[in-house]
Amino acid sequence: MNPQLAPLVELQALDLRIGEIKEQQRKTPQLVEAAEAPFREATRLLKEATATVEQLMKERRDRERDLDAHETQIDKLKAGVTELKTNKEYQARLFEIEMANKKKGEVEEQILVLMEGIEAKQKEVAQAKDRATEAERTFTQEKQRLESSAAGLQSELVQLEQKQGELAVKLDRALLDRYNKLKATRKELALAPVRNGTCFGCKLQLPPQLVAEVKRSQEVLSCNYCQRILYWEGGPAAEQPVAAGAPAKHEQDEAGEAV
Ligand SMILES: [Zn+2]
Repeated sequence: MNPQLAPLVELQALDLRIGEIKEQQRKTPQLVEAAEAPFREATRLLKEATATVEQLMKERRDRERDLDAHETQIDKLKAGVTELKTNKEYQARLFEIEMANKKKGEVEEQILVLMEGIEAKQKEVAQAKDRATEAERTFTQEKQRLESSAAGLQSELVQLEQKQGELAVKLDRALLDRYNKLKATRKELALAPVRNGTCFGCKLQLPPQLVAEVKRSQEVLSCNYCQRILYWEGGPAAEQPVAAGAPAKHEQDEAGEAV
């Protein structure tokens, strides 16, 4: 590889990884938020079921008060029977008592239905509680995993940024400026390797002459199409035999790359 470009390729690899880390860090709060969604939903369902039980219990208490009132009424009606004078009044009172008993029976029936409803809903509450507990545990684990991963990324980031700074001071100023400008316009990828005769940045086929020059040249060459700085990365076998006449030159370049 062109010795001028080797540190720049290294810098680009650092920059790409730094970008990736920052992107992941940016996403972490959203991921935590998303992981919490099933827990929030389970909590909502639990609250809903609990509120229904409370509502049913309140209705039951109301009906029980009604029942007491009906019983008091019936007792009064029964107690007054001795004071009645005529058979007609007596028959009317019996009918009243019968009606009051019927109403009382209806209220008792309502209470039974409510009690069944409460029992069923209480089972639902117990299930919802289990689900909410489980969802909370899953969420807590996932949150811990995300946070510890974010912490790991943060320490990697600190190291990478340190290396980035060290590399940047070693680089040729003009080349670094060129790299930074390209990076801004070419979505992070300012340098592109030549692979199978194409620019890896824009994927277009490069003129064989240019490919040969990138392999050989100590100059900094750019892709004709996307202007990215081209570099030669792989072993000689990876490249098409466009410059079949210069195998010895390859070996020299490759040896230089290992430094
Ligand atoms: Zn290109």
